[in-house]
Amino acid sequence: MSAQDVNKNSRRNFIGTAVKAAMVTAVTGGQLNAIASNHKAAILSASPVVPSLVGTSFTQLPLPYAYTALEPFIDAITMEIHYSKHAAGYAKNVQDAAAAENVNSNSNLEDVLQKISGYSTKMRNNAGGHYNHELFWNCMKAAPAGAPTGSFATAINNSYGSLDAFKTQFADAAKNRFGSGWAWLVVTPDKKLAIGSTANQDNPLMDVSTFKGFPLLGLDVWEHAYYLKYQNKRADYITAWFNLVNWEFVAARYEKAMQ
Ligand code: MN
Repeated sequence: MSAQDVNKNSRRNFIGTAVKAAMVTAVTGGQLNAIASNHKAAILSASPVVPSLVGTSFTQLPLPYAYTALEPFIDAITMEIHYSKHAAGYAKNVQDAAAAENVNSNSNLEDVLQKISGYSTKMRNNAGGHYNHELFWNCMKAAPAGAPTGSFATAINNSYGSLDAFKTQFADAAKNRFGSGWAWLVVTPDKKLAIGSTANQDNPLMDVSTFKGFPLLGLDVWEHAYYLKYQNKRADYITAWFNLVNWEFVAARYEKAMQ
């Protein structure tokens, strides 16, 4: 065999080995995906894991559903503008404020909210705005269960008498918030449920808020949340919104708050 033939053979062997290696990788990758997919399906069917903590990061997370998902109660255009313009703006501005005020943007946003009096108005408005919206998206889902279950349902009944009585009180808080703001259901520092509201983008975690607690459920009553579909009829928006409340998520936050 000439030196040239040896080189040809080596090259052929090398290519053959590389192709085989690539095929093995491809098959293995495919199998892994299949295993992961089956595993995920098994987990989802066995016990759905509902995240209880959102809004602790300075970054805007993907909307957990399509803009159209909450139709007909909240229209797609409102959702798109709300998420991609208003909420995205708060997320950008809270990061700008963090950079300007030497806050590590990997820190827990809830820690910043609890000490918000030590920061600028820009931080207050945008840390609140970002946190509130991250929470709000997860407080809603398409075709949710109509009522909570478990210990959270018991707590609602014990505190308000019934789910309907709770809804009436919560709707009153949302209707009576003058101007822009939020209605809330919280767990207070002494572990009781409480309904209240805050102005602008304040929230009950803030040390400056007169209404305090760990927010379980928040309703945005800024006009940007409903005006395209409901115009001046905030009460109709509130009534419709109850069809979207993700009780599993709210209950998971309740469990977290009571730990
Ligand atoms: Mn909003």
